[in-house]
Amino acid sequence: MRIEISGLTKTYRGGVAALDGLDLVVPTGMFGLLGANGAGKTTLMRILAGLVRPTSGRVTVSGHDMGTGAGRTAVQHALGYLPQDLGVYPDLTARQFLDYVALLKGMDDRAARRRRVGELLEVVALTGDADRRLRGFSGGMRQRVGIAQALLADPRLLIVDEPTAGLDPEERIRFRTLLSQFAGRRTVLLSTHIVDDIAQTCREVAVLARGRLIFRGTVDELTHRARGRVWSIVTD
Ligand code: ATP
Repeated sequence: MRIEISGLTKTYRGGVAALDGLDLVVPTGMFGLLGANGAGKTTLMRILAGLVRPTSGRVTVSGHDMGTGAGRTAVQHALGYLPQDLGVYPDLTARQFLDYVALLKGMDDRAARRRRVGELLEVVALTGDADRRLRGFSGGMRQRVGIAQALLADPRLLIVDEPTAGLDPEERIRFRTLLSQFAGRRTVLLSTHIVDDIAQTCREVAVLARGRLIFRGTVDELTHRARGRVWSIVTD
C-alpha cells in the first residue's frame, strides 16, 4: 500500500508543532522512519492509524483519503498497528490475550479465532509459551506477542513504533527477521531511533527532525553519503 503525505501538520494544544508541513511518499515494502526523541514519529503513526487528527494536510493510503470517514475506515481495515506502549494484561496467557484482541477485532467465530491465534503463535515462535502468563515474558517475547496481535487480521499495512526499544541484541535480531519475513508485498513502516534496525531491514528511509523531513533516500545513501549531514541535525 502506497502512503502519500502532503503538507501534514499537527500542532498540539499548548503550541507544539509535532509535524510541520511534512511531505512524504512511502512505497510498498519495508520503509524506515528514523528520528530522535520528539521528532514526530509517533504522531505520524497515530495519524496513519486514524487515532489523531492532523491540524492540516492530506494523507492517502492506496488512494483512500484519511480526511474522510470512509477513507479512514478503509485504511483501518487494512491496518495492523503495534504502538510503542502496547498494554498487555499480565494475568492472561499469550493465547488468551490474542484470543481477546481477536474478539475485539470482530472475529466472532470461535473455531476460526482459535485457528488464527494458533497460526500466529507459530509465526512468532511462541507456541511453546502460549499458555504461560504474560507477566513472566521477556521484553522481546512481549514484542512478539505485540506483532502477533497486529497481524491478527492479516493487514496489508503494518505500522510498528519503536519496537526494539529495550530488547537485547538477540531479541532485536529475531524481531527484525520476523518483520522482514512479513513484509513481502505488504507495506511495513518501522519507526525507530536505532539506525541498525533500519539498515538491516529496509531499503529506503526517511529521517524526521522537529516534525520536518530532513532526509529521504536509500539506507545506503544515508549511511554512506548523508550520514554526517543528517546526524548533525538529528543530534543537535
Ligand atoms: P519519541 O521517540 O520520544 O516517542 P517521537 O519522534 O515519536 O518521539 P512524538 O511523540 O510524535 O515524537 O512527539 C513530537 C512532539 O510532540 C514532542 O515535542 C512531544 O512532546 C509533542 N507531543 C506528542 N504528543 C503530544 C500530546 N498529546 N500533547 C502535547 N504534545 C505532544
